[in-house]
Amino acid sequence: RSKAQPEQRISFYEAAMDEAARERRAMGRDLGVALEERQFFLVYQVQKSARTRETTGYEVLLRWRHPQRGLISPATFIPIAEECGLISPIGDWVLEEACREAVAWGLGHKIAVNLSPLQLGDVSLVDKVRSVLLRTGLPPSRLELEVTESAIIGDKGRALHILRQIRAMGVMIAIDDFGTGYSSLETLRVFPFDKIKLDRSFVNELDGRQSKAFIRAIVALGKSLDVTILAEGAETEEQLHVLVAEGCDEVQGFLFGRPCPIENLQDRSFDLPALTA
Ligand code: C2E
Ligand code: MG
Ligand code: MG
Ligand code: MG
Repeated sequence: RSKAQPEQRISFYEAAMDEAARERRAMGRDLGVALEERQFFLVYQVQKSARTRETTGYEVLLRWRHPQRGLISPATFIPIAEECGLISPIGDWVLEEACREAVAWGLGHKIAVNLSPLQLGDVSLVDKVRSVLLRTGLPPSRLELEVTESAIIGDKGRALHILRQIRAMGVMIAIDDFGTGYSSLETLRVFPFDKIKLDRSFVNELDGRQSKAFIRAIVALGKSLDVTILAEGAETEEQLHVLVAEGCDEVQGFLFGRPCPIENLQDRSFDLPALTA
């Protein structure tokens, strides 16, 4: 039992919160120079057909190599970038760099780029996507954008308008981390989209009966909506086996590969690197 007086405990919490806030502010400041200092890079994780194990695409994941702290997870720094108003320039960079790399390496599959909900709050995204495709020469059918359910919690009308226009270009839309939001069914009802990415937590708990029931129901819903179902976070053959049996179309996870820089992709199904000389 703590002998500390209530006031002392409160001040302990305050100190800890101050410290956390200070950390976030420091990281926010460092994020401000990360782009110009070229501290970001991209890694790619393969996506496969569940039944045939053929490659169907690659998800693009952002990495930050901090000069003092080393590698920092996007789960840590993306929320800070969103708070500091830096997600727009960072998101623009990711989109451009991914399209550029995919073309430069002659990647023979589509790439899936993550969008922050904040990026869906700005109509200029439509022109950005269009001009990046023109500038890099990536065919629109080779690009997929991943958005989470939280993207429609804000200005729903604007997000829908943006997604419809992007989709009209021939770019695909995937709903990321599906099943973890507050309004999953609402999302499916109003969002224009091509793919559902079933959250990793369902795959994690496959031995539980409930998880399987959810997967089955979502797969059935996906089939009737005529969209692709991808299961995230498959780590074992046993999980893959269940996912195939439940009718998932595609799978992504450590079983098939960790995210890695484009030049190190194990899967050599893409063409030889384009000659740049
Ligand atoms: P996400 O979009 O759901 O990405 C999948 C995450 O799951 C990645 O983590 C990936 O490395 C991890 N993962 C893949 N397979 C497995 C597996 O079999 N087991 C386990 N335990 N994990 C697996 P990562 O790269 O740390 O990214 C975390 C999140 O950060 C992403 O979740 C996404 O929400 C966000 N993020 C990453 N890159 C970007 C970006 O360029 N822009 C934005 N806005 N968000 C990004
Ligand atoms: Mg994603
Ligand atoms: Mg996800
Ligand atoms: Mg996630």
